[in-house]
This record gives sequence, C-alpha cells and structure tokens, in this order.
Amino acid sequence: MILRGIGASGGVGMGPAVCLRAAAPDRAGRGYAGVEDERARLRAASCQVERETAALAERMRVRAGESEPAILTGQITMLRDPELELQLDRAIQEGETAEAAVDAVFGGYIRLFEGLEDERMRLRAADIRDLQSRLLRALLGRREADLSRLPAGCVLVTRELTPSMAVGLDRERVAAILTETGGSASHAAILTRALGIPAVLGAAGALQAVENGELVLVDGDAGTALPRPGRKEQEEYRTRRAALLRRQARLEPYRRRPTVDGDGRRLRLYANVGHPAEAVRAAAEGAEGIGLLRTEFLFLDRAEPPTEEEQLAAYLAAARPFPRGEVVIRTLDAGGDKRIPWLALPQERNPFLGCRGLRASFAQPELFRVQLRALLRAGAEAPGLRVLLPMATSVSEVRKVRAMLAQCAVELEREGMACRLELPLGVMVETPAAARTADLLAQESDFFSIGTNDLTQYILAADRNAPEAKRLYTPFHPAVLRELRDVIRAGRQAGIPVGLCGEAAADPELLPLLLAWGLEELSVSPALLLETRARIAGWTAAEAGAVERQVMALAGPEEIRAYYDAWPHN
Ligand code: PEP
Ligand code: MG
Repeated sequence: MILRGIGASGGVGMGPAVCLRAAAPDRAGRGYAGVEDERARLRAASCQVERETAALAERMRVRAGESEPAILTGQITMLRDPELELQLDRAIQEGETAEAAVDAVFGGYIRLFEGLEDERMRLRAADIRDLQSRLLRALLGRREADLSRLPAGCVLVTRELTPSMAVGLDRERVAAILTETGGSASHAAILTRALGIPAVLGAAGALQAVENGELVLVDGDAGTALPRPGRKEQEEYRTRRAALLRRQARLEPYRRRPTVDGDGRRLRLYANVGHPAEAVRAAAEGAEGIGLLRTEFLFLDRAEPPTEEEQLAAYLAAARPFPRGEVVIRTLDAGGDKRIPWLALPQERNPFLGCRGLRASFAQPELFRVQLRALLRAGAEAPGLRVLLPMATSVSEVRKVRAMLAQCAVELEREGMACRLELPLGVMVETPAAARTADLLAQESDFFSIGTNDLTQYILAADRNAPEAKRLYTPFHPAVLRELRDVIRAGRQAGIPVGLCGEAAADPELLPLLLAWGLEELSVSPALLLETRARIAGWTAAEAGAVERQVMALAGPEEIRAYYDAWPHN
C-alpha cells in the first residue's frame, strides 16, 4: 500500500521506522488545588516551557541559521500574550485545574486556526498544539521524547512534526520523515528543507500503516511513502540512491568553483529562497549570494503585520551567510495567489491582474514604509543588500519608491537610527509593460531581475497555476524568448546588471540562449545550484550562439519543442 502526502522536502530515504505515537498525557487523579496553587503551577510550567523554548531556539540558531528561532520565539510571545493569560486565569478562577485551563483555552485557539480558510493559517494550529502539549507535559512533570537519540538511518513516523521536534532532528540519523498532518508551508516543512532531510507530510493513516522497526521508503520528490517495500522497490531505491550519490560526487567540485562558461566568462550564480533559514543551506550549496528573497513568509503566518524590528532581524539573517555577496530582497508580493488574510486588499475577479505586488504595497503605504525602513536599517549592516520591486509596470512607480526610500532614510537619521541613505533599487521584469519599456526603466533602476514565472503567464495569457493552461505556459514561445532577449539587451545597453530569477533560470534548454544574450546572473533554487554551475561551464559562446540562432529562427513553440526533442545535449 502506497501512502500519499505532500513532498515537503526533496530526496529519497529508506530505513526502519521509529513511530512516535504520542499518548494523551494522563492527568487522572489531579484535583483542583485552589486558585492560588493552580495559578502558581501554571506560572511555573510557563516559565519552564519558556526556558526550554529559549534553549531550543539557541540550538536551532546553530542548526538552521539565525532567523529560525523566530518560529520558537513566536511561541514565547504567545506564552506571554496578556489576552491568553487572562483567559487561562479566568478558567482557573472558574474552578478548572491548570491542565484543564490549558486544554480548553489552547484548544479554542487550535480549533479557531484549524477552521480558517487560509492554508498557512491553518498550519499554525500545529505550532499552538505543540505549545499546548509542552505546557501540559511541564504541568504533569513528563519529559519530551528525545529525538536527538534516534537510531541512525531511521525513518521518523509521527502524527505531526512540531517545530520543537524538528530542531532535534539530525540529517545523519534521520533518513526521512513521514507525518500524518502538515503541509509544505508549515514551519516544520521549512525546517526539514533547511536541514536537507527528505520529508513527506500529511500522509493520512501513516501511523496505522507502519509498525515500529518496519522498513519504510519515503520519496520526498513524489510525496509518497511505501511501507514494507518489496525486493524490487528496494532495488530501485538503491539504484536511485546510487545515481544520486554519483551525481553528488560529479557536482561536488563545483561547490567551490567560480561560475564560468566554457570560455571562462564569469557569471554570478545566486539562490532563490523563501525563508532566511534556506539562505544558510544556499550558502552551503555554493551560492554566491541571494538573487531573490521572497519576503511573503514574514507576512503570511500571522494575524498582524510584522514589526520593523522583526523584519530587520529576518533581512540580516538572510544576509549573514553572504558577507561578501549580494542579497536581493524583494518587497512584499501580496495579492494574486498569495493572499494575506489580515491585509485588507480589494476582492477582485482577476487578482493576478489587480492589486498585486508593488500595487498592493502602494495601497498600504504605512505597511510599505515599515518594510522600506527595515530594509534601509538592514542595509547599514549588510553591504550587499539590494531591494527588488515586484509587479512594476512603469517608471513612475520606481521613482515613487525611490522617493519613499529617501524620505524614510531622512526620518531614520532624524531618529538616530543606523541606516543606509541609498539602497540599490531594482525592478523585477515580470510584466509585459516592464519588458517593453525596459530601456526606460533601466534609466531609473540599478538592476533588473527577470521573473519568467509571471512574465510567461502575462505574455502568453496563460495562468501559471492552472492545469488547463499548462500546455500553453512555456518560456519556449517566440514571444517570450524575444522579450527575454530584448530585456537583457536593454539592461546591458544601459549598463545595469541583469539577472533572471524565475524557474526558467535552471532550465538546461534555455541556458544556451541566455548565455548567448549575455545574461550575467542566474538565481535558482538551492537544490539546483551545482547542476546549473556545471551546465554553464559546458557552454562556449560559439556553441551557445549556434543554438540561439537556430531556436530564434523557429516560428512557434511546437517547432521549438521539436528542435529540442532532437537536441544532442539532452
Ligand atoms: C517570477 O515571477 O518569475 C518570480 C520569480 O516570482 P514569483 O514566482 O514569486 O512570482
Ligand atoms: Mg513573480
């Protein structure tokens, strides 16, 4: 029987299962000890959990990078929340034991979050449940399972992977993770990716299907798990694993090599990350900088906007692994499919064509100013920091942001805050309007980053997320290819750096064309860095130019597909 879930962290892992079936804490026999005693017990338990959480945060800082503790410090903030304290106290005053109060009050929040429409908010219920069970354990004097002592090479099977569990995990010991609940946007998923442990989350029935000690095969790429794999599957796994190890060995030398094409022309190879924790991994994978930090993570999992201080900490955390490299931070790209529940954006029939990205930031100027201030302050400590604007369509927008940045810098100076007076400001070329006016935008921008994910959908009028439009959605359409060529040319003519950060940056078939057009910077997911660097090294300008001439002479996506199907480089 194959179990299906969400492939939250790629790769394959096989090993004997360690099943964690958390029994509900037994609190039979505990009677009500009076308001003062119950209050005191709760206070003591809260302090203990707070101390433990701070220690976990420290451990996480070492394991997954500076920003990760934010997940845990969020739990501390919740513990200290006056409204929550009030509700707990009220329950105790009404005659509940401290345990029953924790059960009821946290239970209410868990149900509230689980009932929300937004998936990311629903996933926050896991963080609250984690906190609840740790408080209950502290009240009952129980110890948490110590995941740092798992047998080497095991597959961890559990109902839910909480952030506090995830910190204890070790790639050397845990071959893979399989859980019954959770999604790819959960904090635990972010952590498994940052730690590089293959994981399938949300596989219903996993704990029933697997017994302790039984062999399980987890495929984080396919999002499946196979309990008790047969001889054939085990053989396939070993073949795949061997191929993976061979590939790793082949790519290993590129980790420390500069990014150069076959003629020795130097390029920059950066990483796209969705969370500062991934920046640590990106640096370890050989990224020369961050080409795109999507800042939505800061805004999505909460009920209110992140503070300037929080944003500052996150931006510095993303920049820290790259003391000499560039770190491109994109301002909030809300709207479209990235709905932020607490952000009052208009209800639109076509959210991808409406108040999205920069437009949404302009619609909430106060929120935008906080982000710009945090960026200016981060810039004082991180010399490589650059700001990138999503969904720009005209020169006036860039001017407006520049003016806002200047204004924020003046205010920060007046307040005596350390900040950069000017930050390099770039445009994400991802709308046809920006692409067609690239020559004009280049006069106002310090750099370009081409966002092919959106540019392709807008040029071809083909929804990037709709399965029905999949056939139409391809950068290998002359309309998209010409636009890419022209944008790169416009940037080069204006003398500003041009990079590409959409998924297409890692496409081996597009690579010779990008090289032929003189693109200098590619930003790809951390897992694809070494492969991309190796591929770049395989192209001389003459060879890339020959491919470019042939492809650009073709009339449509079908011809181009046919050309690549017969490609000797595949
Ligand atoms: C893009 O549009 O190409 C891009 C990189 O941004 P996102 O995928 O976040 O829209
Ligand atoms: Mg985009």
